[in-house]
Amino acid sequence: MADLRMRDLPALHRLLAAADVEELFGRYPRTRVREALREVLADLRRRIERGDQVPASAIAPAAIAEETRRRLDYLEDGLRRVINATGVVLHTNLGRAPLAPSAARAAAAAGGGYSDLEFDRESGRRGSRQDHLESLLGRLTGAPAALVVNNNAAAVFLVLRTFAAGRETVISRGELVEIGGSFRIPDVMRESGSLLREVGTTNRTHLRDYEQAIGADTAALLRVHPSNFRQIGFTARVEGEELAALAQRSGVLFLEDLGSGALVPLGDEPTVAAVLASGADLVTMSGDKLLGGPQAGIVLGRGELVAQLRRAPLYRAMRPDKMTIAALAETLRLYLMEGPAAVPALRMLRATEDELKAAARSLRRKLRRAGVPCELVALEGRAGGGSLPETTLPSWGVALGGEDLEGLHQRLRIGHPSVVGRIEGERLLLDVRTVLPGEDDELAKAVARAYALNA
Ligand SMILES: *Cc1c(COP(=O)(O)O)cnc(C)c1O
Repeated sequence: MADLRMRDLPALHRLLAAADVEELFGRYPRTRVREALREVLADLRRRIERGDQVPASAIAPAAIAEETRRRLDYLEDGLRRVINATGVVLHTNLGRAPLAPSAARAAAAAGGGYSDLEFDRESGRRGSRQDHLESLLGRLTGAPAALVVNNNAAAVFLVLRTFAAGRETVISRGELVEIGGSFRIPDVMRESGSLLREVGTTNRTHLRDYEQAIGADTAALLRVHPSNFRQIGFTARVEGEELAALAQRSGVLFLEDLGSGALVPLGDEPTVAAVLASGADLVTMSGDKLLGGPQAGIVLGRGELVAQLRRAPLYRAMRPDKMTIAALAETLRLYLMEGPAAVPALRMLRATEDELKAAARSLRRKLRRAGVPCELVALEGRAGGGSLPETTLPSWGVALGGEDLEGLHQRLRIGHPSVVGRIEGERLLLDVRTVLPGEDDELAKAVARAYALNA
């Protein structure tokens, strides 16, 4: 192969007239195309200067146009849609809960127009749509009051900051957890200005441990859901009722950070209603874990406490935007009007083995028809998002074999839409539990395409 020289590079004006580049002008603004084209040429020039082996095919107008198009991708490459074939329902890296179609539409409508976000239509004065969320949440959980913020980390922080800054918060050593994405209870407490008063031991904490720790400086007892881990063996944890009673006797608050927060029974998770009924003054939870809504943090509990949170200056920095409010309200409405099965994350978590096996068979049929050899496999899915860590969800899917599974998986990931499964041993596994209704044809096509390219 003869080495390319600088003068072999096509001139910009010639490229601009080439058919492949012409086509880019139809899709992108001229200035952006020229800019990207210049970058591609500058790169090639640098490589030639360095003495790199640049194949002649790399400077063909079609190749340069292709590279230019790749660089222009940034204009369109927002969040790429992913078909989740991991079997992990609340996959934090993939955006946790998928919204119900009507909740996604509600968010889009709120985003694309004006709404009564902070407007009372009757009086024509300032109002708040948080009132509407509060009444929906009240119906679903029995909470007298509620406030929604951007995420549960913010909810925990706001509560501690407002009620325990400069004073002590008592917490069991067994509950100083770290949640994915580096949310660590001790760090959040420190940042909030509350002094961490750890009690008990890693595996066992008793009521008397809390009792002995309560003093003049105590602001609250905090109980944190262990979320992503379970303790087994010689363990003891104090029940919420007992802590609520102790807090009341001692004149301090009892706060419970539930993390996932299930509105309906799921696995061995206590429902939010049950936790509130057991006497917590304030409960905090996520909107996009077991609730199945948008990213949000929800504080539920006593009216005068929630009112204080609403007045806190910090709340302003944490208040959710209109699209979140619209999506959350619609998700809650679905629970009340149509039941939890209308919420995709809940439907996935509760899908039966029979349903999943039928869906996996159908995927296998589509793949085989497209020339992709694969087998039906029994799998174990998970809730994810730090929820129900001990509960494995018996699931079904298809397994692909082959030489270069990593290569195949990468091709799937970088495709449009992207497909994410998992590799176990010598197999690429696609779990159908987390594949949304209507995505199966696309999934089969994407796999067939990647399989053919990888062959
Ligand atoms: C997940 C979780 C959080 C953080 O919630 P985000 O909504 O992710 O901010 C806090 N506490 C517990 C116990 C959790 O499980």
